[in-house]
Amino acid sequence: MFPSVRSFLAFSYTLVVLLIISVLGISVQVLVESRLRHDLDADLQARATELAEIMTSDTDIDPAEQVALRAAGLNLGRRAGDATYIRLYSPNGVAAPLPGSVPPIPDLQDLQAFRQLRSPQLQTVQTENGMTLRVLSRRVVYAGQTVGYLQVARDLAPVIRITSLLRNALIYGGALAGAGAGVVSFLLAYQALKPFSSIVEDTRQIGVDDLHRRLPASYGVGEVSRLAQSFNSLLDRLQKAFDLQRRFVADASHELRTPLTSIRGNVDVLLLDPELAPATREALQGVSAESARLSRLITNLLLLARADAGQNQPAQRPVDLHALVLETVRQSRSIAGAVEVRLVHEDQVTVTGDSDALKQVILNLLDNALKYTPDGGYVHVSIYRDGSWAKLEVHDNGIGIPTSEVERIFDRFYRADKSPRGLTGSGLGLSIVRSVVETHGGKITLESTLGQGSIFTVWLPVSNQTLTPA
Ligand code: ADP
Repeated sequence: MFPSVRSFLAFSYTLVVLLIISVLGISVQVLVESRLRHDLDADLQARATELAEIMTSDTDIDPAEQVALRAAGLNLGRRAGDATYIRLYSPNGVAAPLPGSVPPIPDLQDLQAFRQLRSPQLQTVQTENGMTLRVLSRRVVYAGQTVGYLQVARDLAPVIRITSLLRNALIYGGALAGAGAGVVSFLLAYQALKPFSSIVEDTRQIGVDDLHRRLPASYGVGEVSRLAQSFNSLLDRLQKAFDLQRRFVADASHELRTPLTSIRGNVDVLLLDPELAPATREALQGVSAESARLSRLITNLLLLARADAGQNQPAQRPVDLHALVLETVRQSRSIAGAVEVRLVHEDQVTVTGDSDALKQVILNLLDNALKYTPDGGYVHVSIYRDGSWAKLEVHDNGIGIPTSEVERIFDRFYRADKSPRGLTGSGLGLSIVRSVVETHGGKITLESTLGQGSIFTVWLPVSNQTLTPA
């Protein structure tokens, strides 16, 4: 859902800040509003009590007159919005005239209900001219008799104004604080996670071939530095395990080679006997072929183990690539059967390196091309000089390689799924090819279409040394 930890952290912080601001804001809003309303109601109560006392102070004078007489002395508010409005009614509900302008309190709708009032009643009403009033209504009783009714009102506009001001301040302030929290938390998260990005970058650079490399000891942040240290100690263990495994492969291959050579030698001697029974000859030929295969496998393993240990730095001798290819093509014709092997383009080109290893490269590519090309097909070999590069192309119209496998074909022990049954191989040939080519400063590329064939292209830097005749 989130593209990065940074955005997740920034989003979470912002959400938390917004939540806190909302809860605080709503609480402040509710508290202030209820406090203001409560104060206003208390003021109305006090006014009403004061007026009721005035109305009943001298029962000989009409209550309305009493109020009118003393209204000037009452602090009923001077400023608009702060004013207290009063209405007096006779016991039968007729409004008594009071000095000054007519108060905006709406006329009584339900006299009966007014008469039933037992205790003061507080209501919020809308007037025709759009005012919102808080109105207290009560009966005025003297000696058990209702002497009139009284309404005291105040405009709620100041309360509404203050609360809406507060609400706006909270909404805009909250939004601003939320946006600020988002930006700040993103920057903080970015800053805090930066060392992790460096660690990711640094670890990405460490491949199987450079397990000796280590991450810097300090990334400026304690946790990240500790992570780097534990990663380094993991690399230590990994490197040890790899070294052990390589040494084992190298030692085992080395140890197996001698007895195998002697088995092959002895079998070949036995095969020289012309009196061998056909079944025995066939069995011995089988042993010879299998031990030859095993011997190739062991040679390959040893070669790779040495390359891994960095011992395969090629000799720096000029090699006539054209002559080497010619010789290898000639040799492979003997095993080509019904597949045509032809050198279709031949530039004279010299490279630098180890001619045995380079011959192995050409041999492995030709072997594969012949192995995976059915009878009647062709294998075309070309050598070009392309600027400062020598380009060797082995092109066959064999079974081809699926696109999904092209990347993995050079991995050790990898054999494509579609390898035809009956075709034996170890899956080491191409990894040796790549290893040799790379130690010679070159590269290998592959273009292949399933069912149509493959083109393996080896690029090697052209030598600037001159060939000395052998
Ligand atoms: P193998 O000993 O199996 O031939 P390689 O490393 O030489 O091992 O080749 C790996 C795999 O690549 C083979 O198993 C085969 O599936 C595929 N491959 C190699 N060369 C060709 C080719 N010229 N045409 C089709 N498939 C090939």
